[in-house]
Amino acid sequence: MRIVLVLGLLLATTACGSLGNDTGRVRVAAGFYPLAWAAERVGGQRVEVTNLTQPGAEPHDLELTIKETVAIAEADVVVHEKGFQPAVDDSVRQNAEGATLDAAAVAGLEPYADQPDEADPHFWQDPVRLARVGDALAQELGQADPRHARAYAANARALRRDLVALDRDYRRGLADCVRDTIVATHDAFGYLQKYGLVIEPISLSPDAEPTPADLGRLQDLIRADGITTVFSETLVSPKTAETLAGDLGIRTAVLDPVEGLSDRTAGEDYLSLMRTNLQALEKANGCR
Ligand SMILES: [Zn+2]
Repeated sequence: MRIVLVLGLLLATTACGSLGNDTGRVRVAAGFYPLAWAAERVGGQRVEVTNLTQPGAEPHDLELTIKETVAIAEADVVVHEKGFQPAVDDSVRQNAEGATLDAAAVAGLEPYADQPDEADPHFWQDPVRLARVGDALAQELGQADPRHARAYAANARALRRDLVALDRDYRRGLADCVRDTIVATHDAFGYLQKYGLVIEPISLSPDAEPTPADLGRLQDLIRADGITTVFSETLVSPKTAETLAGDLGIRTAVLDPVEGLSDRTAGEDYLSLMRTNLQALEKANGCR
């Protein structure tokens, strides 16, 4: 008798919603931080977001553990960026049973300035591109959970307002500056070219060491343009930036690629990190 009752209850809970978990919330797996943040903003209380990249980890060349593979398999919606994290792409192809959203296709990628054949994955440095991902997430969440489709659409509109305001602040903040070139450790800031910045990366990937020729070229540029600051970033060692700046007697400052949070930035979010970056850029380039 008792067993029958429990079974009946189990069947009742399973039948209640098409969503794949017992909390009734939509499960989202997101490749890395800006995608997870956008999913949380658009989904609000109704979604449970798993960030596949652990806090403090570099999302490039991420390796997945069983836990993340399970999260991909069980997700109602997976949002990832094709080409940026190949291990995530592979696992999505093999394991995802829910809907999948390719942020690259939605955001629209530009090539790297110095490598025209290669798409630059760091689109979230352009807030307007991240807003497109928010809109697409609202669509996917609305399909997975049609009862709350209007709430997701409203959340996406609110997200878009915040991102458009951030874009406007960047445009205004960087409109009138003494310099327009920045030197930064890895090539994560190409999308800031839309605000008139010229980006000189010390190296193209987060862990590649620059060659002596790279460093010589940068030193000439720093002297010629009167550059005041070499930017390092949060998830990789600042050593190269410090060496380069030290040799020339100029400053280092942090520019966060906003690829993930770390212990130091645990209380921050995408918007606050982007605003901190803007202040650092205005200071380095002498903007009014
Ligand atoms: Zn990167």
